[in-house]
Amino acid sequence: MEIVIHDLSKIYPNGNRALLNLNLKIGHGIFGLLGPNGAGKSTLMRILVMLMEPSSGMVTVNGMELARYRKEIRSWLGYLPQDFHFFPKLRSGEFLDYMARLSGMKNRKERSDAIERILEEVGLFEARDRMASKLSGGMKRRLGIAQALIHRPKILVIDEPTTGLDPEERIRFRNLLSEISAGEVIIILSTHIVGDISSTCSHMALLNKGEIAFSGSPEELIHEARGHVWLIRADDEAYHRINARYPVISTVPSKEGWAMQVVAEKLEDFKGEPVEPNLEHAYVHFMENKLKQQLEDRMETIL
Ligand code: ADP
Repeated sequence: MEIVIHDLSKIYPNGNRALLNLNLKIGHGIFGLLGPNGAGKSTLMRILVMLMEPSSGMVTVNGMELARYRKEIRSWLGYLPQDFHFFPKLRSGEFLDYMARLSGMKNRKERSDAIERILEEVGLFEARDRMASKLSGGMKRRLGIAQALIHRPKILVIDEPTTGLDPEERIRFRNLLSEISAGEVIIILSTHIVGDISSTCSHMALLNKGEIAFSGSPEELIHEARGHVWLIRADDEAYHRINARYPVISTVPSKEGWAMQVVAEKLEDFKGEPVEPNLEHAYVHFMENKLKQQLEDRMETIL
């Protein structure tokens, strides 16, 4: 299964340009869509799950155009939106039964088998008789995943997967996604949290102001930051100068004053030790340096 996005743009009726000529290929496994707030992630997700039409361009799934094969492709989709709400009067199991019926599962026995299986998979079997509204944040999120998976979709789209989860629930949720991705499934995660991407995704794209700034593996993005992340040991006076000069990723008090991790294409006027970058470093490096460079190159071609 493959999703191909061709020259996709979305301009809202008020003139907001949310997506601009996007081109992207998404294959099996977990695909991370990372970008700051307002980058256009939700807009893209909503177009992918057919809640919204693009202004131009198209999306194909296995060569089939979304706009022409709506019914068929919809049956392959599972979606967990950012602001997912439950019916407060339904128990977890009843809620899943309702969602299963909505997704076209007419056979009662088939539905109850599917509900039992999915409740086990997301670790909510014990909570099947609890009111959905009384579950913890992490359990609600897992129930959200359960409703998105109940009809065994081939494409699972999740917007901001770990919002509102505590660290333990976050890890559990990521592990659950890894388990699901072992099948022939495409999982698309959209997030502004770098950690959601690094631990689970094999491929990713960086969306910025409606455009794809990078697409590849997290390791490729990290590779680009190698040699551009530094640890500087600074006293109070240097601390202020460094803050004014470089993007600072972390500051930890130390014997000499401060141990600061900074991103710099070239480190000037300060001495530092090189640091092996992680995805967070790479993201900052990309946004600060590469992106600026891309924009400057583009301006040069325009002028
Ligand atoms: P993200 O999910 O990355 O935060 P969005 O897709 O929500 O980004 O938004 C992308 C851009 O489109 C933003 O500038 C936002 O203000 C704008 N936008 C989103 N929804 C609407 C809407 N319904 N009407 C007008 N503009 C919108």
